[in-house]
Amino acid sequence: MKIGVPTEIKNNEYRVGLVPAGVREYVRRGHSVVVQKGAGEGSAIPDSAYVDAGAEILDTADEVWEQSEMIIKVKEPLPAEYDRMQENQIVYTYFHLAAVPELAEVLIDKKIAAVAYETIELPDGRLPLLEPMSEVAGRMSIQVGARCLEREAGGKGVLLGGVPGVARGNVVIIGGGTVGTHAATMAVGMGAHVKILDIDLYRLRYLEEVFGNRIQTLHSNADTIADQVARADLVIGAVLIPGAKAPHLVTRELLKEMPRGSVVVDVAVDQGGCIETCHPTTHDEPTYVVDDVVHYCVANMPGAVPRTSTFALNNATLNYGLTIADGGLEAAMKADNVLAKGLNTYGGHITHPAVAESLEKEY
Ligand code: NAD
Repeated sequence: MKIGVPTEIKNNEYRVGLVPAGVREYVRRGHSVVVQKGAGEGSAIPDSAYVDAGAEILDTADEVWEQSEMIIKVKEPLPAEYDRMQENQIVYTYFHLAAVPELAEVLIDKKIAAVAYETIELPDGRLPLLEPMSEVAGRMSIQVGARCLEREAGGKGVLLGGVPGVARGNVVIIGGGTVGTHAATMAVGMGAHVKILDIDLYRLRYLEEVFGNRIQTLHSNADTIADQVARADLVIGAVLIPGAKAPHLVTRELLKEMPRGSVVVDVAVDQGGCIETCHPTTHDEPTYVVDDVVHYCVANMPGAVPRTSTFALNNATLNYGLTIADGGLEAAMKADNVLAKGLNTYGGHITHPAVAESLEKEY
């Protein structure tokens, strides 16, 4: 199959759909790969690395889209790319179609086979192509939180690990899923006191098994949240209720109980946030202060570390992409139920029930 990798054009998007190791694997299996000039630059991958792996570099996005049966990307196609899509082309990327209904129309019109990273789903409901980004955001949340705690950044001037003779910082993580677990890994590594709150007892048991007594697990309810947040140096918001807005677990009233210069990092801000005073920010201006508490609420945290994010994403996308390329789209969808859940549009129809429902279209 002919595979194409265009440069991402969304504002502040520096990731790339395929890394050289992936190119090498496609080529090894008899496929051909074209990469737009400079596509890897945002992730510090030079064109020469793609050439070494067997790709051909093309000057323009138009050429890449024109010459490819399957396009591998990161973000949904933007209006500038609508005309580039070829009838019946496979486009393998994040789509989040509910947020861009006009793109769904284009995909239907052009009979695009849209394979959406975010709807590829394992039998237990896990979303393997979203997880790597939660891992990145979870780990980053402690890094940015530690930075915000520094005096110069508006924080109270606490070093998370303390030093011999001086208390460690208190980190409270609300939500012990992927983000929360990876935040805990970093916070424990930095030597902080770490508490994780979750409503899921099975998850708390799992976390205790993994971390032993290096963390304290607590059942999440209004009392434990109030108690812990009031004593925290750094609070990480990491809850998710699938398909719903995040609940405001840290209210404005509770925020006032936090000592001056404390920090909240609301990773769940992309689902509305679990800290009442959070609103989405960007990497250009990531923080603001409410009631003397520093807020970090960037909705696209992995964007700050595109190289790590690119490689993490590629690790998760490669095998599904190879399945499509090796067998062809139809055979791949028949052979792999997990991958089949990723198909959002095909042959001029919406092929995913939840996507159809959110767009109020027929399935
Ligand atoms: P996940 O499903 O793995 O974990 C969510 C956890 O929240 C679950 O363990 C669940 O039991 C727990 N939870 C639900 N209600 C709770 C409550 N009332 N109190 C405590 N815990 C509760 O989800 P995840 O992958 O860890 O993602 C967490 C959030 O981070 C999501 O909103 C996700 O969209 C977001 N996210 C944001 C970024 C970013 O850049 N800002 C990046 C990745 C993920």
